[in-house]
Amino acid sequence: MSSIQPTIIIVDDEIINIHSLARILRGTARLCFATSGKQALQLAKKLQAEMILLDVMLPDLSGFEVCKQLKNNPETSRCSVIFVTALGSTAEEAHGLRLGALDYIIKPFNPTIVRERVQNLLNLTLAYRKLEELSSTDFLTGAFNRRYLFEIADTELKRHRRHNRSASIMMLDIDHFKEINDNYGHSVGDQALRHLVQVCHENLREEDIFARFGGEEFCVLLPETDAATAKDAAERLRQSIKTAPMALDEQFLNMTVSIGLSGITLDESDDINYWIEQADKALYHAKKNGRDQVVLR
Ligand code: GH3
Ligand code: MG
Ligand code: MG
Repeated sequence: MSSIQPTIIIVDDEIINIHSLARILRGTARLCFATSGKQALQLAKKLQAEMILLDVMLPDLSGFEVCKQLKNNPETSRCSVIFVTALGSTAEEAHGLRLGALDYIIKPFNPTIVRERVQNLLNLTLAYRKLEELSSTDFLTGAFNRRYLFEIADTELKRHRRHNRSASIMMLDIDHFKEINDNYGHSVGDQALRHLVQVCHENLREEDIFARFGGEEFCVLLPETDAATAKDAAERLRQSIKTAPMALDEQFLNMTVSIGLSGITLDESDDINYWIEQADKALYHAKKNGRDQVVLR
């Protein structure tokens, strides 16, 4: 979640209804509009909207179908849904709530109450997102944390097994990091960790899961990457870190890293712990052989 204004998408095929909701909600969020189900789905994904106010009777997909598709897509499943509809039977309302909507508002509604309800649910949505973010990231560097790595790796490896895909794992450890702390102090050490994370983010792919494993040790899960490709990626990463020194007052601070790497063969194991151990053994060899190098298990 960012600190910028949250986004609410109002979906209704009647422009007059959109206007009335927009008037009621003015000032609560950035308001965007869609007049069909397909448009709503596209917009929710593109804008990464926090919330959607969804009419049920739409010209193409029904609002129920839109809700289902939003919830089934990991890119939009976190978008909070509130139905706003004239369909007021108990069965319809129960159906909407069962699909995962946070609320079901029946037209005609009381504008003051709707504004307060939407505001409360938006606050709840934002608080939940903040919690999710805090529980998945490392406070110092902003990289994913170890807990999140294990959570996502488990699902990712199961998915890979189903689709018979390759994956690789890297363990990366800064060389002689203790010397940075000893020579420049702990806060420069912290700064160096943040610098390294930035270089890694710039050099890895969006789909790679890069996490701080602990201390000055990082772990990368590379989906859909065989060992040979991962080796190239690791070599590139090692070089980038080596050639991107951190600016420190009048001088530059150089860092090198050692990387242990393993291709993941799911027939051998689909337990992430096993593969981390394999990459860690390779890392141990990289250190023993003189550091500043990549070793494939
Ligand atoms: P090697 O090449 O064998 O990896 O040597 P090293 O000095 O990098 O490894 P060692 O395990 O001896 O030391 C790691 C250091 O990392 C010790 C610890 O104080 C420091 N460290 C761990 N977490 C943090 C942190 O969050 N901030 C700072 N500044 N230092 C940290
Ligand atoms: Mg180290
Ligand atoms: Mg270490």
